[in-house]
Amino acid sequence: MDKYDYIIAGAGCAGLSLLHYLNQDALLCQKKILVIDQSLQKTNDRTWCFWEEISSDFDYLTTKSWDTISIHKDQLDLLLPTKPFTYKMVEGLSFYESIISAAKKNKQIVWIEAKIESIEDNIVYWEGGAAEATYIFNSILAYNPVFQDVLQVQSLNLYASKQIAKPFLWQHFKGITIEFNQSIFDLQTARLMDFNVDQQNATAFMYVLPITAKRALVEYTVFSKEVLDVSVYNYAIQEYIERNYPQQKFTIIHEEFGAIPMTQNTFFHNERSNIIPIGTIGGAVKASTGYAFKFIQEQTKQIVSALHQGEKPNSNLPKTRHQFYDAVLLDILFNNKMSGAEIFTRIFSKNKAATVFRFLSNRSSIFDDIKIMSTLPTRLFLFTAIRVLLRSKQ
Ligand SMILES: Cc1cc2nc3c(=O)[nH]c(=O)nc-3n(C[C@H](O)[C@H](O)[C@H](O)COP(=O)(O)OP(=O)(O)OC[C@H]3O[C@@H](n4cnc5c(N)ncnc54)[C@H](O)[C@@H]3O)c2cc1C
Repeated sequence: MDKYDYIIAGAGCAGLSLLHYLNQDALLCQKKILVIDQSLQKTNDRTWCFWEEISSDFDYLTTKSWDTISIHKDQLDLLLPTKPFTYKMVEGLSFYESIISAAKKNKQIVWIEAKIESIEDNIVYWEGGAAEATYIFNSILAYNPVFQDVLQVQSLNLYASKQIAKPFLWQHFKGITIEFNQSIFDLQTARLMDFNVDQQNATAFMYVLPITAKRALVEYTVFSKEVLDVSVYNYAIQEYIERNYPQQKFTIIHEEFGAIPMTQNTFFHNERSNIIPIGTIGGAVKASTGYAFKFIQEQTKQIVSALHQGEKPNSNLPKTRHQFYDAVLLDILFNNKMSGAEIFTRIFSKNKAATVFRFLSNRSSIFDDIKIMSTLPTRLFLFTAIRVLLRSKQ
């Protein structure tokens, strides 16, 4: 059986981010690395957005960036400058292609296109083959959540039967990139959350990112316990476009669908194992927002730093009080104690966008936290915080 230093199981955002940082490291780029994915013919299957203060490693891939965001609910239209942060968009395909083409120059990296069947101890098995490694970095969900209700049903049943301790929601969305015949969009502003849409008895908003004056990504996003039928997203998007841009003709350039788990449950982690979960299954998704791109970069850099120093890598992101805030917010959303539309509108209407961004990046000061929390109903949040604390002690 072939033996490698590292196997990267799954060449998506986390697997390729890890490969990128390994390949940039003068020591680690000499290691024997196997990258396996069921499809190395990448498509533009997702668009990543994130905020940051300084230029990132992938600045050269930025399709568009904005210095203002807006939040809308009923008659309220908030326009918030994001400085010193910039909100950025990177398209999946340009990210995949840039990392893969750079890594293909390194002859120490071996590529296999195959569906992985299992990963056990130090061995990855796929149809017709197997390989061994000192460390296996796994970003493969054992089940594909998109349009399948396997994990959804399973996770809710597990929660109901108390086999998993913490609430579980899906952030699910459909986005289309549309182009009008004439200039329509305010290019300076990313419409982060427009809550003037069907809330699906949960939390839902439209996300509109203008790329040119004629072109924008329009995405209907829902935080709820169950993924919806595709017709529901289609209807919401169509109705929104007709209402906001009446009688304007447009063409659809691109479509994407996603379902991101919003939970603090860890399903796949064994500290003693040499199989290191990364990305979504490695806990890199912020449970209360679904943002993961920046956390994945932090996580994979942390792994590379440990490997460089000859230490056992660990994909656990630093624990801060923010994970407790996430748990409280998720609990409130899961139990429908207050709508996400109300919570996020209150937070954004009383705080600068930069303060909220720092808070959501797990980097706010205690002073920022108090300011943000003072905009929310004290009794509800305090009561939930106590409940979450008691739950964590069980
Ligand atoms: C449509 C979409 C948009 C998103 N937008 C944002 C955003 O704007 N901002 C943000 O911060 N986060 C966003 N996210 C969340 C998160 O950043 C992404 O989900 C990210 O891609 C997660 O990285 P990952 O490596 O864990 O999983 P993936 O990127 O999904 O990678 C998993 C890889 O494993 C491969 N694979 C799966 N099963 C097998 C198998 N059996 N054998 C071999 N290979 C297999 C897949 O082909 C894939 O390449 C988005 C997610 C989606 C789905």
